[in-house]
Amino acid sequence: MGTPVNRSTLLRAASAAVATAAGVALLAACGGEDSADKDKDTDKAAARTAEPGAAAGSAAPAAAGSFTVTHVGGPTTILEIAGARLLLDPTFDQPKKYKSGLEKTQAPAFGTDRLGKIDAVLLSHDQHDDNLDDTGRKLLKDVPVVLSTPGAHKRLGDHVTGMKSWQTEELKTSRGTIVVTAVPALHGPDGVDRGADGEVTGFVLSGEGVPTTYISGDNASVKVAKQVGDRVKKEIGPIDTAVLFAGAARTPAILDNAPLTLTSKNAALVAKDLDPRRVVAVHTDSWNIYSEDMKSLEKAFQDQGVADKLVGLEPDGTARKLS
Ligand SMILES: [Zn+2]
Repeated sequence: MGTPVNRSTLLRAASAAVATAAGVALLAACGGEDSADKDKDTDKAAARTAEPGAAAGSAAPAAAGSFTVTHVGGPTTILEIAGARLLLDPTFDQPKKYKSGLEKTQAPAFGTDRLGKIDAVLLSHDQHDDNLDDTGRKLLKDVPVVLSTPGAHKRLGDHVTGMKSWQTEELKTSRGTIVVTAVPALHGPDGVDRGADGEVTGFVLSGEGVPTTYISGDNASVKVAKQVGDRVKKEIGPIDTAVLFAGAARTPAILDNAPLTLTSKNAALVAKDLDPRRVVAVHTDSWNIYSEDMKSLEKAFQDQGVADKLVGLEPDGTARKLS
């Protein structure tokens, strides 16, 4: 397993013992009073002071063992797992065109004012608008833990932890520990090297009472996903849930329109190879560079005989408890 650097990311203890009306201990997620001042003039203050239940998803952490998923749009998804609320690839802009040529075509299910408390952002990469847009970028400084690539750390600053593949970080929650392992992702077809522009990380969540979860990030390679799956199964155990970034993102500007994320067929092949109990598919909507949608995913999963694994989530902001 190489020599992973183990660092413990202790969520602030200030409010660790605070209990909600439901008697659920909250994570020390959004900072203590020490961070209150800097919030005053940000549009994220509302998000950080949102009442539990005020968010479109549930702002209260999930019960142990349960797994709730809220799809906001594009890759942006909230996972409520093992007592934590984790946000994947924040994008909250309204529809607009970007200098990069990307265009957001659909509004997020809700804005950051209804996001509720977020304990950590898992950011697959920062250099593409559809994985971190302008509003998502502003949000980062108000989240206590941001895990991403070494390049993101360099560009975004010390607030972002840059993780190399197979490095681990521990998120301490009121219910225990979530081990976050950075895993390889290839932002293009097998064999290509996109250099810094293609630097992406996936993540695996594991730990006692934590359903083992693979988050692909912007990965287009079945081979890379399989290598991740093989190692995770060997060293951690079976994968409970795979969150796959599908949609076959394409742009003429890069590799002549080659798929930069999983095609529907390749997502189904990954589902077959990794054999998770279920697949939550995201990254198929809201941006002009996604060339395959949820319908084609459903068909591909049927064709590969894994339709029963697919959890297709509309980007409607509804918190769905997975069974
Ligand atoms: Zn990307």
